[in-house]
Amino acid sequence: MPAPPTPATDANLLEIFSSIQGEGPWLGRRQIFIRFAGCNRACAYCDTPVDAQNFCRLETVPGHGVFEKIPNPVSLSVIKTMLGQWLESLPGAHHSLSLTGGEPLLSWRILCHWLPELRSLLPIYLETNGTLPQAMEKLLPWIDYVATDIKLPSMTKEAAMWEEHGEFLRLAGNREGCVKIVIDRRADGEEIRRAARLGAARAPRFPLILQPRTGGEPFSAAELLDLQGKLAADHPDVRVIPQMHPVMGLL
Ligand code: SF4
Repeated sequence: MPAPPTPATDANLLEIFSSIQGEGPWLGRRQIFIRFAGCNRACAYCDTPVDAQNFCRLETVPGHGVFEKIPNPVSLSVIKTMLGQWLESLPGAHHSLSLTGGEPLLSWRILCHWLPELRSLLPIYLETNGTLPQAMEKLLPWIDYVATDIKLPSMTKEAAMWEEHGEFLRLAGNREGCVKIVIDRRADGEEIRRAARLGAARAPRFPLILQPRTGGEPFSAAELLDLQGKLAADHPDVRVIPQMHPVMGLL
């Protein structure tokens, strides 16, 4: 017998858990993370498994790091039930609901159904590679925070997507947000400056976060400060913030 069709409003998820935001300006904020399967990019430095499985890992107690498996795809009603229980057991503990991946905007049609209801429970924080502006436009009414990348071809070893990033930032720039650039010694200086100028032109309220690649060949502290100083001529708010998950032992 053929498998029943997947409801168009159910999503293939990788995991759902409660943890601390480990990147960018909201570093330290506790969030509930929903990690979506699938990505439209294949960055050379990607350390995140993105392929859909027939199950999603769901943390059994928020923040305890113990998981059970629930079948994919996952429905909105399952998410709402889980969120209701977690928010009741830890009132006020969570800042927002982080949609991450993979690339969550690939699931924009599903999120059009989910977000009006989920946003009544927690503010919505979107972590995205910033290359799908048309999807972003559909979801803008329900997005409170946007943490977006500008991908440097010298780092990803993929084609540049400057136009997509620019259009994305134009759309998202009136939300709360930030632009993140992952860098190590392979990063091309001209590409970094171009990204800074693009961020300043299209989303001037977003701080520009230089994020040293975890596990990459690192810049020295003096080199990072030198880079920050040079980029300050192109962008009004340049910060250096490493990933804190490895330091804190967080998911
Ligand atoms: S956009 Fe993110 S999830 Fe997708 S391949 Fe690049 S690093 Fe991995």
